[in-house]
Amino acid sequence: MTEDARLARHLPELIAIRRDIHAHPELGMEEARTSALVAAKLREWGLETHEGIGGPGVVATLRGKRPGQGAIGLRADMDALAMTEQTGLPHAAGNGAMHACGHDGHTAMLLGAARMLAEQPDFAGTVHFIFQPAEEGRGGAQAMLKDGLFERFPCDAVYGLHNMPGIPLGQFALKPGPMMAGAGRWVVTFKGRGGHGGNSPHLTEDLAVVQAGFVQALQGIVSRNVPALDSAVISVGYLAGGTRQALNVMPSEVTVGGTMRAFTPEIQALLETRIKAVAEHCAAMQGATAEVTLWWNAAPLHNHPRETEVMAGAARALPGASVDTSMRPVTGGEDFAFMLQAKPGAFIFMGNGEGQDLHTPLYDFNDAALPVGVTFWLNLVKQELGAA
Ligand SMILES: [Zn+2]
Ligand SMILES: [Zn+2]
Repeated sequence: MTEDARLARHLPELIAIRRDIHAHPELGMEEARTSALVAAKLREWGLETHEGIGGPGVVATLRGKRPGQGAIGLRADMDALAMTEQTGLPHAAGNGAMHACGHDGHTAMLLGAARMLAEQPDFAGTVHFIFQPAEEGRGGAQAMLKDGLFERFPCDAVYGLHNMPGIPLGQFALKPGPMMAGAGRWVVTFKGRGGHGGNSPHLTEDLAVVQAGFVQALQGIVSRNVPALDSAVISVGYLAGGTRQALNVMPSEVTVGGTMRAFTPEIQALLETRIKAVAEHCAAMQGATAEVTLWWNAAPLHNHPRETEVMAGAARALPGASVDTSMRPVTGGEDFAFMLQAKPGAFIFMGNGEGQDLHTPLYDFNDAALPVGVTFWLNLVKQELGAA
């Protein structure tokens, strides 16, 4: 039976698994049901399966039937977002979480590849299938790394992919070097004396003025502190202070928070230093204080040149595929970047066809992408561990 025929036979179950995971989304580090389902399927298909790696992470190991020393890791993420789904689909979730980033599809595609390879392990060496929890800012990649991922499952190279709505099926994009930004978050809490907004504003530090000045001054960091040929993003996503029911009361605490993005460690350090300094000085100007907290959810994602070519080759081997190997970097973040700091490897975007954007309440992973992704992974194993 040809590879395509075997895949066609498995596809209905793969679609059912994808929709089952979609209907039961779990937030990062809470993927108990999802990881149990993943582990059960891997064992059913005969793979050596390890659970509890970095929390709910799962790793399955498959050795090829031909001798070989090479070992590669293929990674999928399993977590959902805290959002309310509005697709109205039969497999829509109703529990306040949602697979709005397509990690249900990533998990199903890697499961499909594991099943196909376990059926016919016609390669030389070892494949580790890495099912990671908590990609969406909850530290899943770092948790698996801290738990000894690559010591327990040594890999010469590691690979990951992400679906991309709006790009046609069969189209792929990646680039060597910096491809995605380091993604961080910051929170500033201004504190001062609140008070009577009508009678005695002069007896307060007026934190509304402090935060207004801060949000304005923040704009100078990217435009004036970051060198013109480098790039960064700072956006405010959260403003909180006072009470709607007491508009004449000046708050004693105002919080501003947001996101920050950069492509190099130097610019990451600069954003940290400047956000902190701007907050503290804006507060001091009015006699208030600022407490600043900053952290990074993802390092800048840098693809290694050799592995970038391997991934491009695996995509090109798909019938009718096209691969853009010089895409513009994106300022989205991806915690697979931490695995690429530990091992050579690469990350690729895979077209998901027409449809709603990621992280929107109408998004759904395109099941027509499942066989494309499975075949892509099979091609990659052939590239790395040799076809017969
Ligand atoms: Zn996402
Ligand atoms: Zn994602």
